[in-house]
Amino acid sequence: MLRLKRKPVIAGNWKMNKIVGESVATVIELKPRVANSNHCEIVIAPPFTALKAVADRAEGSNLGIASQDIAPDTKQGAHTGAISGDMLRDAGCSYAIIGHSERRQYDNETDGLVNQKILAALHFGLIPIVCVGESLEEREAGREEEVVRGQINRGLSELTEDKVTRIIIAYEPVWAIGTGRTATPIQAQSMHAFARHCLSEGFGSEVSESVRILYGGSVKPDNISELMRQPDIDGALVGGASLDASGFARIVEYER
Ligand code: PEP
Repeated sequence: MLRLKRKPVIAGNWKMNKIVGESVATVIELKPRVANSNHCEIVIAPPFTALKAVADRAEGSNLGIASQDIAPDTKQGAHTGAISGDMLRDAGCSYAIIGHSERRQYDNETDGLVNQKILAALHFGLIPIVCVGESLEEREAGREEEVVRGQINRGLSELTEDKVTRIIIAYEPVWAIGTGRTATPIQAQSMHAFARHCLSEGFGSEVSESVRILYGGSVKPDNISELMRQPDIDGALVGGASLDASGFARIVEYER
């Protein structure tokens, strides 16, 4: 079997933090700190209002820009409050975070909607970062694999193999997000291997071996290195610890 080397991705999700001036100040501070970090793709996801200003400051650097969401529609029109993939491209994005657990939980985002958003992102040439992961209740009931399998199967339903190779998956156990409680590297590795197995069942092993699977959930400078030593962990989606440029740069520069 062909084993492809997967380039790690370290992505920072700023969530609903930082007005434009603060976002620009953060990217100005981050850029020189990671200018020589070529071992991974570095992605930051500012709020919508700051995307263009941050992308302009990041131009010519090794920082990629992600949106935190995307509209499922591909045609312009009457969708008040929605931001389409072509608008995101225009603002300087190359990635779109899709199906974050906060959107699933508070905005009733279903796997069906996640599926439409993935297709919309790919339509506009954006790389979807698709979030999956079980809640604490589901883990305590021993249902974590069933939940993640369902999210992957429904979320990627009808996608061709070619499309799946263009996506990034983020496994984020909901109980580890913003709680300071990280999955152990062994727990995370086991779920990543399982997610890869699900991809292999649906799309074949060559596709599954090429897809980057990121871990998310209280990643910090002091736990990233051990997580990154796991064979199926290809990077991290970082929330709280990505807000501070120097801390995020330390995560990018994990021990290799
Ligand atoms: C996230 O929101 O994607 C996340 C992983 O948050 P945190 O790093 O703060 O747990």
